[in-house]
Amino acid sequence: MKAVVFHGVGDIRLDSVSEPKIQKPNDAIVRLTASAICGTDLHMVRGTMAGMKPGTILGHEGVGVVEEVGTAVRNFKKGDRVVIGSTIACGNCSYCRAGHYAQCDKANPNGPEAGTAFFGGPAETGPFDGLQAEYARVPFANIGMVKLPDEVTDEQAILISDIFPTAYFGAELAHIEPGRTVAVFGCGPVGQFAIASAKLKDAGRVFAIDCIPSRLEMARDQNAEVIDFSQEDPIEALKGLTGGIGVDRGIDCVGVDAVSGSQGPATDVAKDIVKKAKPDLRKVAPITNEQGDNWHPGDSPSQALLWEVEAIAKSGTLSIIGVYPQTVNTFPIGAAMNKNLTVRMGNCNHRRYIPMLVNMVRAGVVNPTEILTQREPITGAIDGYKEFDSRMPGWIKVMLEPEKAA
Ligand SMILES: [Zn+2]
Ligand SMILES: [Zn+2]
Repeated sequence: MKAVVFHGVGDIRLDSVSEPKIQKPNDAIVRLTASAICGTDLHMVRGTMAGMKPGTILGHEGVGVVEEVGTAVRNFKKGDRVVIGSTIACGNCSYCRAGHYAQCDKANPNGPEAGTAFFGGPAETGPFDGLQAEYARVPFANIGMVKLPDEVTDEQAILISDIFPTAYFGAELAHIEPGRTVAVFGCGPVGQFAIASAKLKDAGRVFAIDCIPSRLEMARDQNAEVIDFSQEDPIEALKGLTGGIGVDRGIDCVGVDAVSGSQGPATDVAKDIVKKAKPDLRKVAPITNEQGDNWHPGDSPSQALLWEVEAIAKSGTLSIIGVYPQTVNTFPIGAAMNKNLTVRMGNCNHRRYIPMLVNMVRAGVVNPTEILTQREPITGAIDGYKEFDSRMPGWIKVMLEPEKAA
């Protein structure tokens, strides 16, 4: 079968590999009908999420049809349409039973302290072969898969595999009560869904901060108040728009690959940020392999965090769902402490939110496909990665169609 395989930082290829087989009783084999490229995949190819094992199939977002189930999978049968949650969890341990699926004690073969287990990630996350392939083995399939009703299309469902639940989790962590002002930092796919999720929670005002015009336009289409940080100082803008108070809640949808926006009137500020970030960058991405316009790590790994702590009002809440690898340890703790901020963060407990979001999409409360801007057969996956990586205008989310590989 065809699959997107990691060979090294800056080196991914569409390879022919053998099809997966059932290995454990709670496995399922799924024929994927949709997969997607995620910002998290880019961290691995850029080198800002280190430790990938060469040969690992990439991708952690998938929708497909069950081909085969192990003897312990009693809730699915061959032919069921399913969405697969990105993180892998056992469903039995105390964490899973409390809904903290991303902190499962059993799913990660490296042990309970190793961190979140997910598809297509670095060695410390399993590693598990990912979902940018024609077929995938889904461990703990009785927990990780959610059955799809006919009314929910593949295009809608692929966005419920990771990014919509992640964004919704971010809005939950931010503890948004009706009327609260919310700033969403980063308007990529997760940021767009964070805006939608903040609105579902009746936020009074939602601000959207980015430097890519097409992303800001999409945010404004959702009625967010937009701030382009390459055109103005985002802190001054947020304070100015809120009567000097700042925002009650901030959601970090940026993570480690933050860019400084070193164009336009904010250039001097950006240069200073980049200079200060240099030591951080070496720690975060010890190995890089930039090629032309591709695979450049962001130049300011902690920039989003610094801005967020400054922009949030006293006694406000910061929610961090942007991905930071374990090597990042810069956070403005003093500033946050002295403002009495609450900081909540983590990897999404996908399984906790997917069934509810499937229902919400089925009921027509949200239509997630407005975010999906690109479709590619899996044979075009490498080009799709490159375009998405170079933040091409208009490229918000790329869906791959594995069954069109032939
Ligand atoms: Zn993802
Ligand atoms: Zn568990």
